[in-house]
Amino acid sequence: MSGIIYLDCSATTPLDPRVFREMEPFFINHFGNASSTNHAYGKKANTAFELALDRVAELLFVNPGELIFTSGATESVNLAIKGVFERYAARGKHFISAKTEHRAVLDCLEWVEKKGGQVSWLAVDKKGGIDLDELQATIKKETVMVCLMWGNNETGHIHPIEKIGEICREKGVLFFSDATQSTGKIETHPKSSHVDLMAFSAHKFYGPKGVGGLYVSGKNPRVKLRPQIQGGGQQDNRRAGTLNIPGIVGLGAAASLAKSEMVSDSRKSRELILSLHNYLLQELQPMCVNGGTEHKLPHILNLSFKNIRSKDFLNEVEGSLALSSGSACSTRNYRVSHVLRAMQLIDWKVQSALRFSIGKFTDREDVLKAGEITVDTVNQLRKLGFPHV
Ligand SMILES: *Cc1c(COP(=O)(O)O)cnc(C)c1O
Repeated sequence: MSGIIYLDCSATTPLDPRVFREMEPFFINHFGNASSTNHAYGKKANTAFELALDRVAELLFVNPGELIFTSGATESVNLAIKGVFERYAARGKHFISAKTEHRAVLDCLEWVEKKGGQVSWLAVDKKGGIDLDELQATIKKETVMVCLMWGNNETGHIHPIEKIGEICREKGVLFFSDATQSTGKIETHPKSSHVDLMAFSAHKFYGPKGVGGLYVSGKNPRVKLRPQIQGGGQQDNRRAGTLNIPGIVGLGAAASLAKSEMVSDSRKSRELILSLHNYLLQELQPMCVNGGTEHKLPHILNLSFKNIRSKDFLNEVEGSLALSSGSACSTRNYRVSHVLRAMQLIDWKVQSALRFSIGKFTDREDVLKAGEITVDTVNQLRKLGFPHV
């Protein structure tokens, strides 16, 4: 794959070699079951599990007892939404969210509707933002939970999490945030923002795939969940199944690195994204940025170039650039982004959107080269022209 510049860090990030080195002994030498604490193998695994809990807790400023390890953010989202719906059904069945959420959240909320719950969808503006007054007015007696992501995986837009949290707190409803894109990149501290449940995933911040977690507030409020995976009673009956120790060790190691390095990594990403943005602005008008330039994640840039189609662009650059037009989940069967649709962008912007997402291993040279390839490719496609939509 050498020679192909990777600009798809919102889909997944490469594993940090230091994370891999910490995981490695737990595949073969320290293979014990963390529940078998009557012997040394189990104890070794359990100690590693507890260290990982501590490291993630330190990154998020929460208590280790408030964390549940899962197979990734998708499972965490399922546990948060379905677990709360089932546990709180007697109190109410009304949820509030927005159509810019990740597919996992949208699908779980559709499940809520099928189970007799009700979901109110907040209007989304052209930058992907919501209106706090509308949120306030939409909360009613039966409202159980507000579900709004921390940072958007397609545009990088960041909701005003603290203000949303305050509104939810005042009204006595739960606040769940899918923080998969912000965790390990920017300060993502659920407690100080009044977030009661928060999902995250290791492979979005240089950890391994197939492991993530859910933060569940332990007090003020003490959130209760109906477990979605039942069995051996692991993790205090909140998520059964033998713990994935190598993965959990990797998640802990990634959290620990993020804690000490994310500020400088993000500063670098922000600068590189800005230089790419400025270069393309200068070379490729007419174009636009989707999701605004303020209140956004440092590693994502979503742009639309008039008179091209993202589909054609991605075909053209297949041998040189790895990026996407939206979320990874929608690229196999090419569909335009539901996020940009929800933002009610006009057709050419939706049809020509490209998401550049970089990471801590992306260097200036990659970005310069990617910028040049983008300029050449967009110019070439514009010259060819295409039947206008
Ligand atoms: C990647 C992503 C997910 C899904 O995470 P997995 O760990 O791959 O299941 C959910 N939400 C957002 C915002 C994401 O970026």
